[in-house]
Amino acid sequence: MKTISQHYIDGAFVDSHGREVMEIVNPTNGKVIARETLADEEDARLAIAAAKRAFATFGRTTKEERAKILRRLHEVVSASVDHLTDVMVEEYGGTVRFSRLIVEAGASVFLAAEKALQELPLSRSWGTTTVTWEPVGVAGLITPWNANSFFLSAKLASALAAGCTAVIKPSELSALQTQAWIECVHEAKLPKGLCNVVTGRGDVVGAELVRNPDVAKISFTGSVGVGKSIMRDGAATMKRVTLELGGKSPNILLDDVDLDEAIPRALGIAFLNSGQACAAGTRLLVPKSRLDAVKQAIVDAMPAFPVGDPTDPKTAVGPMVTEKQCERVQSYIRKGIEEGAEVLVGGEGHPKGLEAGHFVKPTVFVNVSNDMTIAREEIFGPVLCVIAYGTEQDAIRIANDTTFGLHAFVSGTNLPRARRVASQILAGRVAINGMLDDQQAPFGGFKHSGIGREFGTFGIEAFLEPRAILE
Ligand code: NAD
Repeated sequence: MKTISQHYIDGAFVDSHGREVMEIVNPTNGKVIARETLADEEDARLAIAAAKRAFATFGRTTKEERAKILRRLHEVVSASVDHLTDVMVEEYGGTVRFSRLIVEAGASVFLAAEKALQELPLSRSWGTTTVTWEPVGVAGLITPWNANSFFLSAKLASALAAGCTAVIKPSELSALQTQAWIECVHEAKLPKGLCNVVTGRGDVVGAELVRNPDVAKISFTGSVGVGKSIMRDGAATMKRVTLELGGKSPNILLDDVDLDEAIPRALGIAFLNSGQACAAGTRLLVPKSRLDAVKQAIVDAMPAFPVGDPTDPKTAVGPMVTEKQCERVQSYIRKGIEEGAEVLVGGEGHPKGLEAGHFVKPTVFVNVSNDMTIAREEIFGPVLCVIAYGTEQDAIRIANDTTFGLHAFVSGTNLPRARRVASQILAGRVAINGMLDDQQAPFGGFKHSGIGREFGTFGIEAFLEPRAILE
């Protein structure tokens, strides 16, 4: 049995001051695999003090000094892709297919941040006025459990590029993955105090970061409810906030779409990260004229999305992270049925032979209207709602009829038309014909999906403050 009882503060692994011990369960078989001691407020305060000391020097570094650190972090994380992938599969139940991709993305994000830093002008002047962009100070980085090492790397990369020092509060459900990630960051031999990591409960360690006056900025990825509380509680110390929250992303199939391509892609987008993805396209908007063909194409494509052992490279959908999350997804499937939606594939209950783990059946609902609970709330599991529309304008209206606005997808063979539709969607990212990524493009939400943007120059700017000097 593994035990984790240390945090990473001031460049060293130090014993936890916390007293609460939590069991880590392998979601594939329900077995306890480790015990972690959760950090408390005192651990958080020690980490904040270390970051504050380090900021006095690091906040004044040049672009080149920061770029060197980002390159070093890229090297060490890249060298650990295999190990980080294995731990993500074991502790979180991510499929090995997805886990490797996301861990690799977490390694490349350091180089993407370096590129963005080189491109970002950090000073401008005119007449006798000079404006410089200064790091805001100590950054509190609070992350969820669904792509742990990627979020740790992405947030740290932008913060360090800007010249901020960091205290990271990862999800308490990701302690093994965090431990593996810290071990590689330690290899980078960063100056002490640049990156501190305290894993504990959100309402203990997260709350301390939010209220502590020595933390200037919170960059948070997680649920809408917690995002709102961070904004509210952070106001007392005038925190700068970036909030990356939930989504209920529409995927519009235009009537000229090629279903042979679009349906497997739509299922891949819906079941991304076993459905536990903020960007998952969970509302499939389909022209009424092609509804029957879409249903048939979904049934035909489903065998390519097997649920099961996440270590098997063929598996497309793994277990849910915890029993609680599994129950939550099951309850939404029940709710969908109660509200009159029709199960096309999947449904309630565990898939056969997978009763020991936290598995749900990948489920597609048809006859869904956009006002049903399953079409409005983020389920965070492999559940897709098919919603029929009449005209193109109807599709746009339904796509935008949501409190969220994180991501959207449009598929069609007529590209100018797909672009025209995309330009009317209220979402931070709209991908045309696929699940696409660009680590220089901003990522973040309209409406309740958040505030601010991450990645590229946009992500670095979120940790900067302009200062004008007038002579
Ligand atoms: P969560 O909001 O429960 O927790 C996220 C983090 O916040 C965790 O580290 C948690 O411990 C911490 N936290 C909890 N209460 C806190 C408090 N009072 N103060 C400070 N910190 C607190 O979310 P989760 O269940 O870990 O993750 C799933 C959610 O994350 C989903 O809603 C999903 O959409 C969202 N998410 C968003 C993005 C994005 O980029 N927009 C990406 C991934 C996940």
